[in-house]
Amino acid sequence: MTTSIPSVRPARRHLATELPGPRSTAFEERRRAAVARGVGSALPVYAAAAEPGLLHDVDGNALIDLASGLGVTAVGNAAPRVVDAVREQAGLFTHTCFLTSPYAGYVEVCEELSSLTPGTHAKRSVLLSTGAEAVENAVKVARAATGRSAVVVLDHAYHGRTNLALGMTAKNAPFKQGFGPFAPDIHRIPTSYPYRDPDGMTGEQAAERALEALERQVGGENVAAVVVEPVQGEGGFIVPAPGFLPALARWCREHGALFVADEIQSGFCRTGAWFACEHEDVVPDLVITAKALAGGLPLSAVTGRAEVMDAVQLGGFGGTYGGNPVACAAALAAIDVMRTHQLADRARAIGDALTARLNTLAERHPAVGEVRGRGAMVGVEIVEPGGKRPDPGLAQRLAKACQARGVLLLTAGTHGNVLRFLPPLVIPAPLLTDAVDVIEECCAELMG
Ligand code: PLP
Repeated sequence: MTTSIPSVRPARRHLATELPGPRSTAFEERRRAAVARGVGSALPVYAAAAEPGLLHDVDGNALIDLASGLGVTAVGNAAPRVVDAVREQAGLFTHTCFLTSPYAGYVEVCEELSSLTPGTHAKRSVLLSTGAEAVENAVKVARAATGRSAVVVLDHAYHGRTNLALGMTAKNAPFKQGFGPFAPDIHRIPTSYPYRDPDGMTGEQAAERALEALERQVGGENVAAVVVEPVQGEGGFIVPAPGFLPALARWCREHGALFVADEIQSGFCRTGAWFACEHEDVVPDLVITAKALAGGLPLSAVTGRAEVMDAVQLGGFGGTYGGNPVACAAALAAIDVMRTHQLADRARAIGDALTARLNTLAERHPAVGEVRGRGAMVGVEIVEPGGKRPDPGLAQRLAKACQARGVLLLTAGTHGNVLRFLPPLVIPAPLLTDAVDVIEECCAELMG
């Protein structure tokens, strides 16, 4: 027993102490002696309990959650349906290893993935535990299915922190610094970044620029897969210009390469559709999912065309924990919540409310360079007034000021200058309004 849950839990933002409070500070001291320095925390406030849109800490503070544990708790933290499913499954069996003794939950999650991911073709899935692990397995599938080895990724990409995934991730510090060499035959091409691309550049033109680099540097006949985030997350919540994703997918079809959508952050209703690719009617050969899939438990998947997935030989996939039965039960419950409560619609409503308020900030403060996003995946790029030079210092100060007032707002972006909004899709409207009021206050205080 390391902590107790505060007995009074107001369903609103509430500060009982300065943040971090004394009990969090005591844990932080113990942490310094026990936890490796390389593990960071955006705000050293120790969690005790959670409810839709609110995190309660060990000092009795209640913070509005605009992070969803990095985009995971879309259905809410400790969502009752998920908790019940976890309890029930844990009471039956917690683990067998699907490679040893299979169970229905694994099959049922794969059936859901077949029916929910874009495209009506026959599909197969493999379940893993983390996003990075799923990315690695998608690369295995692409290489096995095409007999080629080159993997093409985009500028500003984030695909995880295992060695292959780090090679695919764009940003050096802190993710990659000192950890090389990375896996070979990974090639980076320009993305579509409407705010920073030349004025008027269309998605098709951005794709032409990317594909010209690809053909020149790699050669189309060598490409196993082009792996893209349909909305780039960690890289800065970058929504590509319309036409960019379809052009890349078309090129893949014409050149016998797989178009792989990393929907780890953008999938499962976050952007106002089950999957972000749907906004442009793109049907990927492989879809990678994780995060929101299992409502807070570790589960990830690769789903793809049956013939492509089945290019991997029997025994070619595996892992002790992949598709853990408790995580599968949580996923089935989380998917049911998303479906029953139409969370894609909720994501669109949250996105509309957020961007309307944030756009008024952009009108008032020249340091707010752009408000962008899809659904409830919204980013605000902070720049030096009068130009577009990134201002990560100001973005950090804004995030810290919000955190000090009890709003858990994080930053993202290759330059660290993007405020990222990833609220749970069940956040009550008054909490969202309160959070934006706080952001307005902080903007007024720090930007005049
Ligand atoms: N891909 C994308 C788009 C992500 O956003 C993330 C995590 O943030 C990953 C891959 C890696 O997932 P994980 O941290 O579960 O390994």
